[in-house]
Amino acid sequence: MVRVAVNGYGTIGRRVAEAVRLQKDMQLVGVTKTTPDYKAQLAVEKGIRLYAVDAAGAEKFSKAGIEVSGLLEDLIEQADVVVDCTPGDVGRTYLRQYMGRKAIFQGGEEPDVAETSFVAQCNFREAVGKERVRVVSCNTTSICRVIHALDEYFGVRKARVVIARRAADPEEVGRGLIDSVVLDPVEVPSHHALDVKTVLPHVDIVTMAMKIPTTHMHVHSLMVSLKTPVSTAKVLEALESTPRILLPRKSEGFKSTSNIVEYARELGRRRADIYESVIWRDSVKADGDEVYLFMAVHQEAIVVPENIDAIRAVTGICSAEESMRETDRSLGIMKGV
Ligand code: NAD
Repeated sequence: MVRVAVNGYGTIGRRVAEAVRLQKDMQLVGVTKTTPDYKAQLAVEKGIRLYAVDAAGAEKFSKAGIEVSGLLEDLIEQADVVVDCTPGDVGRTYLRQYMGRKAIFQGGEEPDVAETSFVAQCNFREAVGKERVRVVSCNTTSICRVIHALDEYFGVRKARVVIARRAADPEEVGRGLIDSVVLDPVEVPSHHALDVKTVLPHVDIVTMAMKIPTTHMHVHSLMVSLKTPVSTAKVLEALESTPRILLPRKSEGFKSTSNIVEYARELGRRRADIYESVIWRDSVKADGDEVYLFMAVHQEAIVVPENIDAIRAVTGICSAEESMRETDRSLGIMKGV
């Protein structure tokens, strides 16, 4: 059993912790929590051991009557792997404390926090045995899955992606946009292109990004030039045989991100999470060597399977295929490996 600690029990940390508990080869030794709120209480009720980040934090928990099992340093001591799910740029401040343990970081950290940036189906093998691995951001994860698949099947000459990002996660009431579209950044390219290159360095890619007033998903418009002319049917065939990509049909009622969220709710998915990249099948169009498509990305969930695979990669306990298959099975990913 790989003993896993999660530092930072927020949007990503809660999901990663729960996913770890679903794995037969992993044990969640505990999570850190900064605030003694209802989420801390619920974690205790679920049997998750809570740790405070420092003595002041422990004092807050004690006053609120919530038991903690110790401090972050005690938690790290018990772990083989620490998954850092703290806010962007905070993870880096823990580098020294994580030394001697394998550490997984998230996309809010700069790439140099780790030895390898990671998307399971693109570069699992590069992460095998590494001390520090960074799971890239939600947008980058999804772009990498698709570009990598097209590159494997047809060769990608260049990719251009326009990213409409959700303004905030549903819980972030202080962060949302109400009646505006904000170019983020105004300049071209956005940082996402550079981030894709941390996983797929050879890909010629430009990204442009804006924030839109929704909370539940990002939407990407992809325009990809291939090395060879293809038919729409061939592109669909390639995407269909790629894991972690769903291709819902317009005729089934999929015309918006709301339909996708509702679908996940109807499926009874935990937290209505969508781990797959969702490509509107009817948007896929090949014209000579150009391919176009629209894709939706559930920002809160898509990196969860990647974190689980990253844990298996750094510990070297199984192959990429075995890891992805087990992750997909445990999370109920609909088109897995
Ligand atoms: P979040 O704010 O929801 O959660 C972060 C958690 O860390 C909070 O519970 C916070 O209390 C805790 N925390 C704050 N300071 C801490 C400290 N010093 N030590 C320990 N814990 C601390 O953030 P998130 O959205 O879960 O993001 C975490 C990471 O995942 C970031 O790098 C982010 O860029 C990345 N990410 C986020 C999303 C998303 O859509 N939310 C998607 C992909 C990747």
